[in-house]
Amino acid sequence: MSSPKTSIIWFRRDLRINDHPALLAAIESSDQIIPLFILDKQQIEEAGSKLLAYMGQSLRALDESLGNKLHIIEGDQVEVLSTLIKKYGVEQVHISAEYERYGAARDARVEAAGITLVRTGSPYAVAPGRVLKPSDATPYKVYTPFYKAWCTHGWRAPAVTPKKFTCVEPTPEYRAFPDFPMPEGVNVIQAGEAAALKRFKEFSNKALDSYDENRNFAGIDGTSKMGSYLKFGEIHPRTLLAGLGESKAHDTFRKEIAWREFYADVLFNNPMTDVEYYAPKFAQMRYDKPGTQFKAWCEGKTGYPFVDAAMRQLVHEGWMHNRTRMVVASFLVKDLHLEWQLGERFFAEHLVDYDVASNAHGWQWTAGCGTDASPYYRVFNPIEQGRRFDENGDYIRKYVPELAHLSAAEIHEPWLFLDGYSKNYPERIVDHAIERHEALARLQEIKADKPPMPGA
Ligand SMILES: Cc1cc2nc3c(=O)[nH]c(=O)nc-3n(C[C@H](O)[C@H](O)[C@H](O)COP(=O)(O)OP(=O)(O)OC[C@H]3O[C@@H](n4cnc5c(N)ncnc54)[C@H](O)[C@@H]3O)c2cc1C
Repeated sequence: MSSPKTSIIWFRRDLRINDHPALLAAIESSDQIIPLFILDKQQIEEAGSKLLAYMGQSLRALDESLGNKLHIIEGDQVEVLSTLIKKYGVEQVHISAEYERYGAARDARVEAAGITLVRTGSPYAVAPGRVLKPSDATPYKVYTPFYKAWCTHGWRAPAVTPKKFTCVEPTPEYRAFPDFPMPEGVNVIQAGEAAALKRFKEFSNKALDSYDENRNFAGIDGTSKMGSYLKFGEIHPRTLLAGLGESKAHDTFRKEIAWREFYADVLFNNPMTDVEYYAPKFAQMRYDKPGTQFKAWCEGKTGYPFVDAAMRQLVHEGWMHNRTRMVVASFLVKDLHLEWQLGERFFAEHLVDYDVASNAHGWQWTAGCGTDASPYYRVFNPIEQGRRFDENGDYIRKYVPELAHLSAAEIHEPWLFLDGYSKNYPERIVDHAIERHEALARLQEIKADKPPMPGA
């Protein structure tokens, strides 16, 4: 009798079993599969503790869906794959394609070592690099035309759920589940595919129809919280898109999913822009060096209530509302005159939904140096933003207990009220009105320079 045909499904940013084309391809190509996750030492060293703890929980959930057959192995990818291929006579290694610098280079290194990777699907509805201008087949640099072309391109319906498949029984040495502890006092969203589907159902029932109206209000649970699930591929964007209709609210949600796809496309076409300025002239701007003000920003002690609430939310929940991500990013770049990469790294350390493309380009957009950027002269006013998007102050009260005794009228400007500082809330580290002028003056300096000659 011939030995069973065996394939590996190598999980990376696709920790789910539903709507998973690469898993289906592995199942179809063999009699049995080895579901594999390789713990990558370099990535682990660089990742934030909240994100790692979340990933550990997500791997447990995936293992449960696989009947406790997930092979978890720490080591070099080439060595791990080569060992399994030899040991089990593996014929094919299946993956979802990766497009970011690190993942793409890792996969290229594996292939250069002689291991063929079968790519099916990606973490996106439309893979980066696919949406091109019909006129000259170049990538889009501006979101709105990208969005239109992305819709025209379209995407497949969600893949079917595999009915029955056989997994190779992992030997004990292949069950190296990581034990990444969640930092004390931190409360992140529940990990795993089942939690993702549950949350999306809840969001669809309760908040999707008012998403366009509520998505900007920081104190309302009005957004999907799909970020971490999409980051780890516990849910696929196709699954989210499949249930959307044509209402304004649904359209707004579809457009947000498209921002994620746009930024992935931009990063794919400009691979260094996770660290470098998309608009190079901004590298010439005068910036300050990080010091005590940067520390105050990180700790949520700037003296600006809306900024501080957001920074504390980030540290305690590994998540921050999109509105406040823009406000704190603007504050770092335009009130503190620091380079966006400093904030980007801090977000990377704390966000559970940290995504290299959306984070770097979210920062560059707010800093005014990214593609399709908010103009640099648009400086978010942290007081007005708070008044507008946290009118009653509930968001601030939740994260800044030193201000919880203040009324809605008082909470956005505690310095105007007698007991504003009675509970030790820090004083403002800068005066927004002054720093706004300073930011605009620095912008003028680089604007005055002539743009470089094409090809120079
Ligand atoms: C400075 C800054 C940094 C950011 N860093 C990240 C990051 O590391 N990871 C990340 O996933 N998003 C990032 N974003 C985008 C956005 O803030 C988050 O995607 C969103 O807040 C996640 O919450 P949600 O899932 O409830 O979003 P929802 O409002 O429910 O949106 C649904 C999904 O659409 C996508 N999306 C929504 N808004 C954006 C956007 N502006 N850009 C790209 N995708 C978007 C996300 O995948 C999100 O999960 C950043 C934005 C800024 C301004």
